Amino acid sequence: MPKFKEYKMYINGEWVDAEDKKTFESLNPENNESWAVVPEASAKDVDKAVQSAQKAFEGEWPKLFPKERAKYLRAIASQLRENAELLGKIETIDTGKLFRETKTQANYIAEYYDYFAGLTDKVEGTVLPIDKPDMQVITTRIPIGVIAAIIPWNSQMLLTAVKLAPALAMGNTVVIKSSELAPATMFEFVKLIEKTGIPKGVVNVISGFGDPCGKALTSHTLVERIAFTGGPETARHIIKNSAENLSQVSLELGGKSPVAVFEDADQDNALNGITAGIFGASGQSCIAGSRLYLQNKIYDNFLNKLIERANKIKLGGPMDPDTQMGPLTSFKQLEIIEKTIKLTIEQGGKLRCGGKRHALSNKGYYFPATIIECENHNLPTAKNELFGPVLSVMKFETEEEVINKMNDNQYGLSSGVYTKDLGRGLRVSKAIRAGITFVNTYRLISPSAPFGGMKDSGYGKEAGIESIKDYTRIKTTWFNTSKKPMSDPFTMG
Ligand code: NAD
Repeated sequence: MPKFKEYKMYINGEWVDAEDKKTFESLNPENNESWAVVPEASAKDVDKAVQSAQKAFEGEWPKLFPKERAKYLRAIASQLRENAELLGKIETIDTGKLFRETKTQANYIAEYYDYFAGLTDKVEGTVLPIDKPDMQVITTRIPIGVIAAIIPWNSQMLLTAVKLAPALAMGNTVVIKSSELAPATMFEFVKLIEKTGIPKGVVNVISGFGDPCGKALTSHTLVERIAFTGGPETARHIIKNSAENLSQVSLELGGKSPVAVFEDADQDNALNGITAGIFGASGQSCIAGSRLYLQNKIYDNFLNKLIERANKIKLGGPMDPDTQMGPLTSFKQLEIIEKTIKLTIEQGGKLRCGGKRHALSNKGYYFPATIIECENHNLPTAKNELFGPVLSVMKFETEEEVINKMNDNQYGLSSGVYTKDLGRGLRVSKAIRAGITFVNTYRLISPSAPFGGMKDSGYGKEAGIESIKDYTRIKTTWFNTSKKPMSDPFTMG
């Protein structure tokens, strides 16, 4: 693979630079070196991409038979499977995420395109039981138009699939804005999409910063729907931007997901699940289980086992198959994490392992698995999303108490419960105000499982049968079946 890559944006089926030729560089988190250069889109480039998507929407694409569009989705799935290794490598260099995860994900994400391909001809309309004589009234689901997909840097193949696949399945056209922190994977991916022969302008990929690129896209008058994944602060901007074009918005935001371990839990299983939940992907997962509540009776013993486990996690280069945790994606994130840990310790948090940047960090952004005991879950590491391998641990005595504690946070994305008592698993799951609860497991995804949060974790669900309808609008059509002319034109009947 060449040392320095140059990418172009994909607009209207062509590979283009930014109009004013501006570019920015993407850093490799493993060594802090620039490794790729990408165009920096201005409002003008955004307009070009949206106009191209609009033109494609006015063309053949939405008129194709659903099964024809399904063929393109299946072709994208095949491309993903054939090129998972390449996509994995690029994503790993760009984000620092482990190659064994990025490669596996690129391959698995193919399932999402197949899933939505299968749904293209399953979305039906209705005939209404109308309360008027001589009227036949039907509803049909029609495509919305141009969709703006705003993607964060993490799990970008998944977070693109859950937007792009249903959007294309229903006949929409799409402009994807990649993350400025890791833009390369999207360009490699759209090269594969191009190979399927999809009509020009149906999928466009642009790169740039939140402002002006993201702002121009989410406020563009021709954009009809914004599918956003990212942080809650950015979400507030998106909502404001959407006041300009009154487009529909879905928000998949951050999390501070709580996990409870009851004294009857299978401890080995819980140790694995907790490790996956907070140390998998170096904790840079929106569903990271970053608040851990342990029942009093098992607190000391279980915590010691967890610390022992965390201390053994192998930090290293993300391409190395033995590595268990790679670098963080950005240096800024590492600094935020360090600062928050310091504040927490000053306020009484007890650092039990990790906590300082690793010796490997001389060049890359390595941070070790970190565990902090917090008497109070309002301490900074226990309260705020850190997007890193930092676990805050608290005690609880009763089921009711832990439910209250788990719910006492602004976020509501994911949650976990470890217990052998299935009744309790179900009770706690029902009581937790979070979009997802894992019982005796963690960090799993599937095309058929809706994904998304509540409270400050956003609204809208991605994946699953229902999500395809978010890429349609209902149209109501009235048929007058009477032979007589309309009655009184001055009253609405
Ligand atoms: P971010 O909010 O900083 O950026 C996300 C995207 O928004 C980027 O493409 C960015 O350029 C764009 N953006 C920034 N300002 C904008 C503006 N004013 N208008 C339009 N677009 C703008 O998020 P990030 O740091 O890339 O990702 C981490 C965050 O994403 C975390 O909070 C994480 O929890 C969340 N996340 C959520 C999910 C989920 O499904 N719920 C999944 C992954 C990540």
